[in-house]
Amino acid sequence: MSRAYRVSFIEGDGIGPEIFASARSVLETISECHPNLNFDFIPTPAGDATLAKSGEALPRDSFIKISESDLCLKAPVGETARETIIKIRQDLDLFANIRPARNYDFIESKFSNVDLVIVRENTEDLYVGREFEEEDGRRATALKVTTEKASKRIAKMAFDTALSRAKTAPQKSPAVVCVQKSNVLPMTDGLFMKSCGSIAEGYPSVKYSTMYVDTAAMNLVRNPESFDVIVTSNVYGDILSDEASQIVGGLGVAGSANIGNEFALFEPVHGCAPDIAGKGIANPLSMIFAAKMMLEWLGMKRNDLNCISAAKLVDQAVSAVGGDRILTPDIGGNSSTLVVTKAICKNIKESKDGGEENYDYRGKNRMSAKNEATVTTTNKQDVLLKW
Ligand code: ATP
Repeated sequence: MSRAYRVSFIEGDGIGPEIFASARSVLETISECHPNLNFDFIPTPAGDATLAKSGEALPRDSFIKISESDLCLKAPVGETARETIIKIRQDLDLFANIRPARNYDFIESKFSNVDLVIVRENTEDLYVGREFEEEDGRRATALKVTTEKASKRIAKMAFDTALSRAKTAPQKSPAVVCVQKSNVLPMTDGLFMKSCGSIAEGYPSVKYSTMYVDTAAMNLVRNPESFDVIVTSNVYGDILSDEASQIVGGLGVAGSANIGNEFALFEPVHGCAPDIAGKGIANPLSMIFAAKMMLEWLGMKRNDLNCISAAKLVDQAVSAVGGDRILTPDIGGNSSTLVVTKAICKNIKESKDGGEENYDYRGKNRMSAKNEATVTTTNKQDVLLKW
């Protein structure tokens, strides 16, 4: 069946427009290869430049178009994150922020076999944005909000993710660690931990443990391969995911998904990197991986196997191009954003037939990529993700 997905997009600030253009080229190349898979790109301006132009960081028209689309693909914005991405996450209830970190063959790392995912609660905690000033600005307070409802639903997402990852990679035993600081914050973080613990009872096949956030930060640089799924609250998740991305190659390869019940937004983990904006050296892989997660989510949500196959093609193309050392400087190469993008698109076109062969539409996993299969299906109704 032919489908055109309505992709609202935010080009953002700094390197945003450069890396968004890369991801868009990749998706357009995918459409050329898959006549049954099309994307209608709907511009929804937001961010610092939009604020300067229109007086609003997230104009109402953009917000309405985003909420009416199938999903949003967002490049990073600058100083207006609070008015844009945090508002979208909260208003559209995109409660789960999924941030994978895994080793790639083509990026040197101190560690090997890192394959973890951070499942970060996305709507509460200190990022509810309730700050107060007193004493003429000499005293400031921020509210940290934790509810049982939000904590339980993020915990459920984490356990489901662990099970799904284990099904697609049977050598992995599913494990969830709840990261918090309940010894210092017994009410807020205590409630988060208690809620995760109660959800854990429903998943006896998943190993469950708890860890304080400072210990988790230490273990991430000591033995990151020991982690499978980390479930944590908003601020800790923000910080730990930057750390985790650095372990496997840096922010330039870190994509993420913000998932709600029916809608999702995909974006790089990083900010708009003003220090390298306009230089043509921004790594587009973070945005391309965000687009790949978009394809995987669509595949799962809409049972569209074309999307799953497309995500696979993207993965294979990135691995092949990385293997040829066509990389931006941040990960040890000397190629430009454009050169990397063109190489990936070329590889997708050339390997299209091979990519489709590697995907068995009847349902069984039969993938030949060098890197681990990221998606498998057991039948058309049951597309499993391994973020
Ligand atoms: P924010 O607080 O908005 O997340 P930040 O202050 O953490 O932003 P980033 O914009 O994320 O900063 O950038 C941090 C560093 O990582 C900068 O040196 C930047 O150049 C680098 N960086 C981020 N993204 C990329 C990318 N896609 N390619 C290459 N380098 C990047």
